[in-house]
Amino acid sequence: MRKDSRSAVCRSFAVGFLMLCLVCALPVQAQTSNAAHQQVQKLVEANGANWKQVSKQIWDFAELGYHENKSSALLQAQLKGAGFAVESGVADEPTAFIASFGEGKPVVAILGEFDALPGLSQQAVPERAPVTAGAPGHGCGHNLLGSGAALAAVAVKQYMEANHVKGTLRYYGTPAEEGGSGKVYMVRAGVFKDVDVVLHWHPGDRNAVIDGGALAVTSAKFTFHGVAAHAAMAPDRGRSALDAVMLMGNGIEFMREHVPSNTRMHYIISKGGVAPNIVPDLAQLDLVARSPWNTTLQEIWKRILDVSKGAALMTGTTVEVTDIGSDADIIGNDALAQVAQKNLEEVGGYTMSADEQKFAHDLQKTFGLDTLPSLDQTKEVEPFHKPDPNEPSASTDVGDVSWVVPTIGFTAATFVPGAAAHTWQAAASAGMSIGQDGMVVASKALADTAVDLLTKPELIAAAKADFAKELAGKTYRSAIPEGQKPLIDYRTK
Ligand SMILES: [Zn+2]
Ligand SMILES: [Zn+2]
Repeated sequence: MRKDSRSAVCRSFAVGFLMLCLVCALPVQAQTSNAAHQQVQKLVEANGANWKQVSKQIWDFAELGYHENKSSALLQAQLKGAGFAVESGVADEPTAFIASFGEGKPVVAILGEFDALPGLSQQAVPERAPVTAGAPGHGCGHNLLGSGAALAAVAVKQYMEANHVKGTLRYYGTPAEEGGSGKVYMVRAGVFKDVDVVLHWHPGDRNAVIDGGALAVTSAKFTFHGVAAHAAMAPDRGRSALDAVMLMGNGIEFMREHVPSNTRMHYIISKGGVAPNIVPDLAQLDLVARSPWNTTLQEIWKRILDVSKGAALMTGTTVEVTDIGSDADIIGNDALAQVAQKNLEEVGGYTMSADEQKFAHDLQKTFGLDTLPSLDQTKEVEPFHKPDPNEPSASTDVGDVSWVVPTIGFTAATFVPGAAAHTWQAAASAGMSIGQDGMVVASKALADTAVDLLTKPELIAAAKADFAKELAGKTYRSAIPEGQKPLIDYRTK
């Protein structure tokens, strides 16, 4: 953090100077891939200091899904300032927006997220120290995600202007990725209909291409309603909603053995009664289920609903199911993956400074791992591999976008090697220079790939052919009920 603020002034001079040089030196004729990449990467570097600062501000805001008011407003203002036309509040989501530049085909889009996670407030220090205990924090690094994607978009716009590149570049500000399925409602609203290719990235502890591999996910709140009674004097007159929650939990535990082993089912008891001497008339279980495949998950989900009905029947209570979110798995695109891998390898990773290495070693001591990954991981790019459905994975609403538009993504080493997402260690990394350096790696890879797609129609044709092949015989259907509006208060209801 300090490292960046110290150099910010020098960099702002450098930015102006470099921009001037670039604009003077720009050739009008088509460039080779390499020269184009060099030029757009320099533009990323020139804009980097500003967007690192933006990422820090969003990290400070740490706003939960659909309530990212300040984060969304900041990104919109910055993109407007950089010359994008901004449409806000799309798809019935107050914090969703689309920033556009250029016109006509092709249409290349970059996705940005900016929501935080509850309870992960953390200072940018290598020991557990919340800024505010219990408050949200950027444990998934979406402050970097949204800013890094915007940095790439701004650099590509400047490249397009300087080289008279035709086409449309868009940045999609997509809220509530963490459980709110923000992009699913955006897909439903048709905002990706004319997009040719979508690019995305996600913070991580390595540099790699993401070509599919996310788990399909569905989540709901199961609210049981019973009858309150004195728990000692008249328990026979009560019907315990908490008993139903516990029986549902047991049902899920017994079910666990009889689902494919790469299934994930996790839950919390979000409401468990108000006092032990009152039979609880209201209790609630929040459950998330995941599978590498949408179709398998849909079958499992029907059985989970049956378990909830069984728990209600056994306890004389009733159950109400509120669908919260559902994201599809990611459809890979090998044609785009080849381009992305080449570009990421060309960008390479980054080398930590001595201060960053000290921070990283101190943080790694808190992981509780016997074998710690080398810090050199930030310098390297992983060889391409197709994700195995049995390897550990998470979920993302990028999945739903990938079912309607050819999509490819990156992950970049923004977290100290070995740090898992959704931890205070990830939040700490995302708020300091390690996260910000990793972010720039992602921005460069995104920018290179966007420039390739805007200037080489054959790449878009290949991406579309691969997309058609991947989707042959498959149908996209979100598990979120038709007509359901975004649940703006899904975290609290
Ligand atoms: Zn996350
Ligand atoms: Zn995330």
